[in-house]
Amino acid sequence: MSRTQTKKPNTTKKSPKSKKFVYEFGKKTDGNTTMRELLGGKGANLAEMASIGLPVPPGFTISTEVCTYYYDHQQRYPASLRPSVESSVKSVERQLGKKFGGRKNPLLVSVRSGARDSMPGMMDTILNLGLNDDTVEGLAEVSNNPQFAWDCYRRFIQMYGGVVMGVTSRNEEEEDPFHLILEKLKNKLHIANDNELTTENLQTLVTQYKTLIHKRTRSAFPQDVMQQLWGAISAVFGSWRNERAILYRQEYGIPAEWGTAVNVQAMVFGNAGNDSATGVAFTRDPANGEKLFYGEYLINAQGEDVVAGLRTPNAISKLAKEMPKSFKDLEKVRSKLEKHFKDMQDFEFTIEKKKLFILQTRNGKRTGLAAVRIAVEMQKERLMNVETALLKIPAESIDSLLVPVFDPKALKAATVIATGLPAGPGGATGRIAFTAAQAEKATREGKKVVLCRTETSPDDLKGMLHSQGILTSRGGVSSHAALVARQLGKVCVCGASDIKINYEKKTLTAGKTVLNEGDYISIDGTTGAIYKGMIASTDSEVKRVLDGSLKPAKSYTYELFQTVMKWADKHRSMNIRTNADTPNMASQAVAFGAEGIGLCRTEHMFFEGDRIDYMRQMILAADEVQRRSALKKLLPFQKKDFVGIFKAMNGRPVTIRLLDPPLHEFLPQDDVVRRQLAERLDVPLDFVIDRIKSLHEENPMLGCRGCRLGIIYPEITEMQSRAIFEATAQVLKGKKKIKVKPEIMIPLVGFREELADQLAIVHRVAKEVMKKRKVRFNYLVGTMIEVPRAAITADEIAKEADFFSFGTNDLTQTALGLSRDDMGLFYDEYQSKEIYNKNPFASIDQRGVGKLMEFAVERGRFTKPDIKLGICGEHAGDPNSIDFCHRVGLNYVSCSPPRVPIARLAAAQAKLRNS
Ligand code: PEP
Ligand code: MG
Repeated sequence: MSRTQTKKPNTTKKSPKSKKFVYEFGKKTDGNTTMRELLGGKGANLAEMASIGLPVPPGFTISTEVCTYYYDHQQRYPASLRPSVESSVKSVERQLGKKFGGRKNPLLVSVRSGARDSMPGMMDTILNLGLNDDTVEGLAEVSNNPQFAWDCYRRFIQMYGGVVMGVTSRNEEEEDPFHLILEKLKNKLHIANDNELTTENLQTLVTQYKTLIHKRTRSAFPQDVMQQLWGAISAVFGSWRNERAILYRQEYGIPAEWGTAVNVQAMVFGNAGNDSATGVAFTRDPANGEKLFYGEYLINAQGEDVVAGLRTPNAISKLAKEMPKSFKDLEKVRSKLEKHFKDMQDFEFTIEKKKLFILQTRNGKRTGLAAVRIAVEMQKERLMNVETALLKIPAESIDSLLVPVFDPKALKAATVIATGLPAGPGGATGRIAFTAAQAEKATREGKKVVLCRTETSPDDLKGMLHSQGILTSRGGVSSHAALVARQLGKVCVCGASDIKINYEKKTLTAGKTVLNEGDYISIDGTTGAIYKGMIASTDSEVKRVLDGSLKPAKSYTYELFQTVMKWADKHRSMNIRTNADTPNMASQAVAFGAEGIGLCRTEHMFFEGDRIDYMRQMILAADEVQRRSALKKLLPFQKKDFVGIFKAMNGRPVTIRLLDPPLHEFLPQDDVVRRQLAERLDVPLDFVIDRIKSLHEENPMLGCRGCRLGIIYPEITEMQSRAIFEATAQVLKGKKKIKVKPEIMIPLVGFREELADQLAIVHRVAKEVMKKRKVRFNYLVGTMIEVPRAAITADEIAKEADFFSFGTNDLTQTALGLSRDDMGLFYDEYQSKEIYNKNPFASIDQRGVGKLMEFAVERGRFTKPDIKLGICGEHAGDPNSIDFCHRVGLNYVSCSPPRVPIARLAAAQAKLRNS
């Protein structure tokens, strides 16, 4: 929380004098929608709306460059900023005939943040700025409505006190101190709604608020309006680095260098009486994408009342009856905004004495399902072409068409305890957590939770991230909870006014049902229903169509999915493969559109049934003879698996990696199992124990693993190659005549010689099998690039390899000197200090690991221009990394089966973005 109380702006003389830092909008408009980097999304769009004739109250934007300057210069401002701001304030005064700090017709302003990408609710906002003991009287006279003027003043003191002077709740359980004072007064007066407070009541509140501020800060609430303005500007810049903004940036990969702009805009009043209102509207339904006017409003209220979820607003359709003329005006704005911005818009409006004003517009946050539906339907409506539509869908959103929903049978048996507003679709079941901290704690203990709050605030972000779903008892579909849930792809039900949450007692009550913290609750974000207990879920419609249990014509969701996938396939140049080790996984991936297997980890096949015993026998073997005897038993299993996979892939390429992990991973740690093993192998227990000891490594990830295993035990490579080629021969000669061209991949190579050593075995075995089975087949042998030495000597290694596949899990581990399994101790600290913008194991560290990849691509192709290049680390399912892979010229990415649709879309977007 910012506690800046700048009397005068700190400025420095060294600032570039001629540079423009302040951009006006209104009668004269300096910016437009393309200037997001400089003006932030809000500022750029305010300028754009002003210039296309929409009713925007005038104001100005202080650019993001000032934010950068502010942080680079110990929170000082460029010298030219103060005169520019003063001149722009004068310009607003002239346009409206009002005066900032004037007694007669005072100008009030709002001060709001606005980053390049919107970060809803993460930074600070101040409304009604410019009120003091004097101007409040002026406002009362000019509006002829003292109640309204004093309502604005008490709101302003509360906001300014909280945001700028740091007077807020001191812990998660404590209520906001201003809110407490308000509630106390309302209780005393037996009043339910804020707008029933009389002028005298509001004056009492103002006095009490000021006393609270003085008591907490030892400073008086400032009466100088310029001091107020600079305090608010500094608080907004300061909020760029508050905890929740940092967390949000990490979640969405927003660089800290971008900074925020500050928008200062003339206030218009939705709380000027019953002919005034304020609201938030979406040009389409952000929860499911349907083309209907969606939103809500409150009569006689200010914008914050809607967003903060303190009162549950009315649905926008009701405005057609309450204020027909304003509703018509609003409909016109809705259509103009969509046509102009060519995307679903989320806009704020205020009706002041029947006159409509638009206060902001932005591309609306939406659920994954809505993103897909809006893009497909806007393309049909010719509002955008296919290419634009493809780029409008965040690649990850495809996932929300594939997530499980409640099982219809289980749903019938469940008890509905209340209903709220559906705000983020899908079904979520979990244990009740009443605080963000509890949600986080329970999740770390491995429990699934549903975060239940009266309303959420930006401080709950971390808890929301940890929850399966979010339930609130207050607030509408554009409340903070709904907005953030939609963006995070979380299931959300909000504004469930029939439930009562008691934080002190830790209970959630709905009628006669009382649930405690830790009890199970289920929420359906598609219907808004809230259920007691746990409900089983079932596959999504898309999955059911893909597995044949639902007819395609019966599912609009599937139609949307297919449309986007077809578009994506037409526009991408990279192939999409999958990492699959079983025929089942392979079939699932093919249904999702995988064009081959890029990584089949053979070690995963050794754990099932008896296999683990033979594997252990092989590892514990005292000599080659014993080892070969164990391997002989493993061979038929491996062969059978490969036959299954080749059949499932039906002619598509399959890359099989030879044994990679350190052998001790296969050995039992438990004494009882060790004893059983000794008995089964008919060897003394001590022998087993000694052998396990001898295989112990201090640093197994850097020890005897990867190709090192095949080099010291060539019979392993031999057995695995034989199993692959025997399976190839069998499938080729089978009735169905399925084509097979296996690709054998050698792991953890760093030296050309290592690859050459293994290659000789593979080629020898291939020849033997061809001769024995009287069949000819083609195959490739390549390597993973997963240690820096391999990347650096890629030109040499390429001499031996038909293909490279970047194993970016190990490449990240070895390039960063960072264990894949042990970053827990310092990771959080690294993230909060923004040393890691993103987890380097989730998204390629492009400036480090990426450079190694680029070098290897260039060197590999130098030696062998047509060498096939792919990636099979976890990064292959991450849209940002996929974009990078496209840019460095990989032929394919190989990701886990459920991420195949995401990768198809991300690959198309990469091509569109980079061509
Ligand atoms: C890799 O290192 O990126 C890889 C795919 O191999 P594994 O994760 O099995 O080590
Ligand atoms: Mg690896």
